[in-house]
Amino acid sequence: MSVLEKITSKDAIALEEKHGAHNYHPLPVVLSRGEGVFVWDVEGKKYYDFLSAYSAVNQGHCHPTIVNAMVDQARTLSLTSRAFYNDMLGKYEKYATETFHFDKLLPMNTGAEAVETALKICRKWAYEKKGIAENAAEIIVCENNFHGRTTTIISFSNDPVARKNFGPYTDGFIKIEYDNLMALEEALKTNENVAGFLVEPIQGEAGVFVPSEGYLKGAKALCEKYNVLFIADEVQTGIARTGRLLATCGNCSCVDKHCSGEPEVKPDILILGKALSGGAYPVSAVLANDGIMNVIRPGNHGSTFGGNPIAAAVGMAALGVVKEEKLAKNAYVLGEIFRKELNEFIPTCNLVKSVRGKGLLNAILINDTEESSTAWDICMALKENGLLAKPTHGNIIRFAPPLVMTKAELLDCVSIIIRTLQTFKQ
Ligand SMILES: *Cc1c(COP(=O)(O)O)cnc(C)c1O
Repeated sequence: MSVLEKITSKDAIALEEKHGAHNYHPLPVVLSRGEGVFVWDVEGKKYYDFLSAYSAVNQGHCHPTIVNAMVDQARTLSLTSRAFYNDMLGKYEKYATETFHFDKLLPMNTGAEAVETALKICRKWAYEKKGIAENAAEIIVCENNFHGRTTTIISFSNDPVARKNFGPYTDGFIKIEYDNLMALEEALKTNENVAGFLVEPIQGEAGVFVPSEGYLKGAKALCEKYNVLFIADEVQTGIARTGRLLATCGNCSCVDKHCSGEPEVKPDILILGKALSGGAYPVSAVLANDGIMNVIRPGNHGSTFGGNPIAAAVGMAALGVVKEEKLAKNAYVLGEIFRKELNEFIPTCNLVKSVRGKGLLNAILINDTEESSTAWDICMALKENGLLAKPTHGNIIRFAPPLVMTKAELLDCVSIIIRTLQTFKQ
């Protein structure tokens, strides 16, 4: 079969089934085009994208500014490796560090790589700056975390599906309950070798679990008290998704007046990925100030593709779009409307227990067990009605549309969701 030939959904799925590893369980829809908040399947049916590739496509599908930057750079210079300088990386690093108010940026490609990088920086800092004995450093992580799929990262996951039969696991991690400052202080008090605390400002994969008011600020204060690095994994929550440029929102240049909830919390190490490229290209980064980032010297860490000219051009364009189109503000405003509309509907429907989230990172909790297929079945019905979403767990559905959505489009989506839930037969 020629790669240019049109293919039916059924055939495309069959090809993946036969020739691809079965490491995902996709909704049975085969997409072939995207634009803004919409995607189209190979049969031409149009859908609202309510997942945004796990919040990578915050700027909307095929954003012309990002695509143009990518294509222009691809025609000019794509990859040099870091054996040589390229004329784009420094410009991007300046732009991104000014945007997020850090001294330095270390460029990688995927989110998991950026998390690995942050863990390495944290450990090296612990030995060289904090004075922890060699190989004794511990990093505190949270239960139900999701930080990626590498061997080290799954070592501190507590999802049996992600972990089982992938051992032996990497040592040096202490797991505590999320959203529990007492547990954090206890872990800090009883372990003198703690180097860092790695945390998601909102646990996305766990089902959009929003911590209590003041949790991040309290955690940061405890980290300061015990001289431990506060490492924020904003791969999913960052880049305007939660209604601010960052969910931790240090003194960033985001929406200010629209900053509700958690006041300024500045991580010692910030991890970004996903929407850092608007979904056009794999771009991730670790940001920190000099006192921390300077522990990394030539040869300590690297990536052939990390910081390549296309990634740099795409990263700058993608961040530019977020600022230019005030996506943090839009996410904040639309998120308030989304939760208000659903909160009005939920008491009339015993299928949904609640809605939670911040900005346009939201989830509904289905009134059924984790083992039930109800959430999956609802997503299938939503697909029929022209809206694509996916359960995070058996009974939680995440709703995360591109942030370029208009209010009219959002209300249209709310009505699709409500109509689907109303007609849904359990
Ligand atoms: C998606 C995600 C990652 C991993 O990113 P990949 O690009 O898939 O490796 C890490 N942390 C969080 C919070 C994520 O949502």
